[in-house]
Amino acid sequence: MRRKIVAGNWKMNNNISETENLLNKLKMQVIPESVSVMVAPAFTNLFSAFNSLKEHPIKVIAQNMHQSPNGAFTGEVSAGMLKSVGVSTVILGHSERRVYFGETNQLLAEKVNAALKNNMNVIFCFGEELEDRKSKSHFKVVASQLENGLFHIEQANWDKIILAYEPVWAIGTGETASPDQAQEMHAFIRETIANAYSNEIANRVTILYGGSVKPANAKEIFEKPDVDGGLIGGAALKAEDFMAIVNSF
Ligand code: 13P
Repeated sequence: MRRKIVAGNWKMNNNISETENLLNKLKMQVIPESVSVMVAPAFTNLFSAFNSLKEHPIKVIAQNMHQSPNGAFTGEVSAGMLKSVGVSTVILGHSERRVYFGETNQLLAEKVNAALKNNMNVIFCFGEELEDRKSKSHFKVVASQLENGLFHIEQANWDKIILAYEPVWAIGTGETASPDQAQEMHAFIRETIANAYSNEIANRVTILYGGSVKPANAKEIFEKPDVDGGLIGGAALKAEDFMAIVNSF
């Protein structure tokens, strides 16, 4: 049985009081034992969120980090800093980081290494752009993102990896990949991992789908055999929508 996960990526939303309000609403909900639930507030709110959720099953994770342990990198945050505020899981490779901040597969490979070196878990994001899908190169693009950003890791480190397939054309657009499109890609991802590593690793890794998941479509997407949960953007900002998605399994 693979671990089921629903993670909310809050992106650059919610100041400290909005963060506390949303967490207070989430804390009143019963979290099903079968699902790991995570939220990723902005850096400024991680410490407060971690303290607020100390006695609660919802886990606080980070949206990004720098690959260096410390130094002259103005505006950046290291793995050690995240760990010092109680965060042990980080999202890496989100398409917004790739597109707006120029993060390449090569840089992401370094970030993955830094996270693993610090014994952190990684939610590794990847996914094709609309042009790739139109030109039918989406499988090739996804395989290359995995091969160049992640497949250098040792077999033993796969226990620390969660994958998130997020087709760029579905992020924040209201346009979701159909459940069949998600399943087709997730199965391809598993096959790619099986070829590079082993069937065992491919079958064990949790693969999330992200891109306009909402209460109305979560169930049919999560029902697909190779989809193990979701990485949720917009719908994670409202407690009732997020919980409806958590309860969609
Ligand atoms: P939306 O759910 O807003 O489309 O965002 C998805 C996402 O980017 C999660 O990381």
